[in-house]
Amino acid sequence: MKYIVVTGGVMSGLGKGITTASVGRLLKNRGYRVTAVKIDPYLNIDAGTMNPAQHGEVFVLSDGGEVDLDLGNYERFLDINLKSIHNITTGKVYRDVIEKERRGDYLGATVQIIPHITDEIKHCIREAAHEELTPGETADICLVEAGGTVGDIESMPFLEAIRQMHGELPREDMVLIHVTLVPVDTMGDLKTKPTQHSVKALRELGLHPDIIVGRCKQVIGSHAKKKISAFTDVPARAVISAKDAPDIYQVPMELEKEGLADVLTEYLNLENREPDAGWYHTVSQEYTNRITVAIVSKYGIEDVYISIKESLKHAGRALSTEVNIRWLDAETCDQKDLADIDGILVPGGFGKRGIEGKIRAIRYARENNIPYLGLCLGFQLAVIEYTRSVVGIEDATSEEMGPGSHVIAILPEQEDVVDLGGTMRLGDCTVNLKEGTQIFDLYGSREVVERHRHRYEVNPEFIGRLEEAGLVFSGTCGNRMEVCEIRDHPFFLATQFHPEFKSSPTHPSPPYLGFVGACRKNKITTQTR
Ligand code: GLN
Repeated sequence: MKYIVVTGGVMSGLGKGITTASVGRLLKNRGYRVTAVKIDPYLNIDAGTMNPAQHGEVFVLSDGGEVDLDLGNYERFLDINLKSIHNITTGKVYRDVIEKERRGDYLGATVQIIPHITDEIKHCIREAAHEELTPGETADICLVEAGGTVGDIESMPFLEAIRQMHGELPREDMVLIHVTLVPVDTMGDLKTKPTQHSVKALRELGLHPDIIVGRCKQVIGSHAKKKISAFTDVPARAVISAKDAPDIYQVPMELEKEGLADVLTEYLNLENREPDAGWYHTVSQEYTNRITVAIVSKYGIEDVYISIKESLKHAGRALSTEVNIRWLDAETCDQKDLADIDGILVPGGFGKRGIEGKIRAIRYARENNIPYLGLCLGFQLAVIEYTRSVVGIEDATSEEMGPGSHVIAILPEQEDVVDLGGTMRLGDCTVNLKEGTQIFDLYGSREVVERHRHRYEVNPEFIGRLEEAGLVFSGTCGNRMEVCEIRDHPFFLATQFHPEFKSSPTHPSPPYLGFVGACRKNKITTQTR
């Protein structure tokens, strides 16, 4: 197993996750099997209980792990399925150590950060690295992204563990990449001082970078590279410039041009094979159409729905259609915001705030033949809207939102749940699709596996009435409703599951393909009308 550890300096938000995923892609394009681990130095056990408006999307893995959104980037860039163990947090590490202490595993020792916490961290990294990617197949290379910025108190034990691993492993089995910012001043000059300082901070912890990736508005020229090299002892050819790219999937190409793969394969003593160009073709498809899709959200930040944004992009690219997103505030949006859009999407969410605005948007889509895609909460609200408007039960709502007719009710197994962390219906479930429906045509299969994250479901008591009124439940899991759609509508489809967690540039998600295709058709028809 070879390890590529990625640390970050200067400030957060440098795109360390995308850089890490892109490094993996360079090696994957050369035929190596790559896996990835994200270290998050916070005390939460996982991201499941964290506010997405502060921390960004909670990504859901097939095993039900609620993890940092960077794992979504790894899965999308590397076409792999990661597990909960690939997201190591301070919370998990301390929990495991304290459990061992209580069991008496440390045989009377004083339990300390070094060696007990650092040993546990090393054990977690190795265990995640060796986890099979597919049955019987493990990775050749493991990326390890250390979250946070070098110098943070929280990340100290992790960097110490990495320092120890570096000393224990043969030289060619671990490479350290440090990602920094190279700002451009008002005169247009590149400033290397922040990089010098952050490398100094890293060295104080006993770590010396092998490669520096400098995030910059422009390509870092040889003069600045030589300067960085002189101050950091990193050879100039291993100072890699990561210029802002128009699209995240173009980043591997930028790093390729900079010769990063040559340096990496040399340091890791790997054969530098000819890269397969398939990925580059996929992600640089030209657009011939353009659509605008409204996403109705109560959050002010787009990172909350990063997987949805990316899934629209994947489907769009496959259909040569550029998807522009118009973010609409769920609390204030009305008809005039929806007048010139080609499709409406209501994403997942929790709590009462903004749901009436989302329901208004769904009604508008249904009544005006605008393509609609509903996801999780967007599925539940589509059912509520249909119950109110078509079945005629005006006080229809979800048990989550308060009193009324609960057409959406708590899942029976959730009734006694007390703890919030890791207790929803999470991860992979098999969904059966009904032949002759839109969802069946999109997947072309009677059975699909998709990821879930919810506590509520369609109340079985209402299913009969909804079906009589024309709502088609086209996907089910046992007696649980998973997909609904409407006939005599260009595209009105909603899923209880989250198909966005399985979409990638090479495997766009079927519901998203259907939605983007319908939006494109809707646009063309409106234009020719
Ligand atoms: N709040 C809803 C539920 O818990 C929907 C969840 C979601 O959209 N992820 O069932």
